[in-house]
Amino acid sequence: MSLSHVPLQETVEDAVCFSGRGVHGGAPCRVFVRPAPVDHGIVFRRIDLPGEPRIPARVEHVVSTTLATTLGVGEATVGTVEHLLSALLGLGIDNALIDVEGPELPILDGSAGPFTHELRGRGTAMLQAEKHVWIPIKPVRIEDGNRWIEIEPADELIIDYTLQYDHPVIGTQRVVYRHSPVNYERELSHARTFGLAAEVEMMRQQGLAIGGALDCAVVVGDDRVLNPEGLRYPDEFARHKILDIIGDLAMIGGPILGRITASRSGHSLNQRFVEALLDGGLVECSPLSEVRNVIDAQPTQRVEVLSA
Ligand SMILES: [Zn+2]
Repeated sequence: MSLSHVPLQETVEDAVCFSGRGVHGGAPCRVFVRPAPVDHGIVFRRIDLPGEPRIPARVEHVVSTTLATTLGVGEATVGTVEHLLSALLGLGIDNALIDVEGPELPILDGSAGPFTHELRGRGTAMLQAEKHVWIPIKPVRIEDGNRWIEIEPADELIIDYTLQYDHPVIGTQRVVYRHSPVNYERELSHARTFGLAAEVEMMRQQGLAIGGALDCAVVVGDDRVLNPEGLRYPDEFARHKILDIIGDLAMIGGPILGRITASRSGHSLNQRFVEALLDGGLVECSPLSEVRNVIDAQPTQRVEVLSA
């Protein structure tokens, strides 16, 4: 069969190195994103540990979602993986081996912008195999109090996110994002993580987030954003939440299509959502041209509502 007209799996053209400090430990760290073959997926490798253990970016290896997402296999862990994973999925990169020299990825500026910019600049290489795509076979919604996230079948990825934050500077923000690598880089990748000044101070006292808060996050004071440069998008907070969802969806092990609607959801609920989807809610679809037919062939089903 000719593969000239079907979307192909992609990897990075060349190794790309990022260096900086971890946000929680504050230690200097380097990460190398390397090309990987067909069906390899995204896999981290702790090259500083004996035996160089590998940690696949899949939901069964998520060991913590407190403050950031940490993956682990046995004793080996790698933390703050979500923004790099978001950039890889955002750019359509299916396969990469990611060498890390410590337990945490660099936070850089708190967004996925530097990852995205550098990876796109270096270019991607097409592999001679069709891209795998996951699609939901039924609507699924997962709730935890007033937080929820839901998906319904669609032949593209759309994320409609509403942030409701009881704070005068943040308030309610809604962003509807239609995915493409170009839209990802332009509309999401530069959105930074954020925290309230009071929380940052508390984390600092606990020895966390010592990477220099204003350089790697939007810090929100009582009545204004404390970063002298201000915001990068008027609704940067909600955009970052969508960036995070894309990183969390990477734990499925490949790109997903569907219309996702979410309100107030964060890493833990997103992980539960991914687990629920993998538990019989998704079907792998290949070639991509079949997506519409596969969706249309599903019986109409009521939304399945699950509690976190
Ligand atoms: Zn984030």
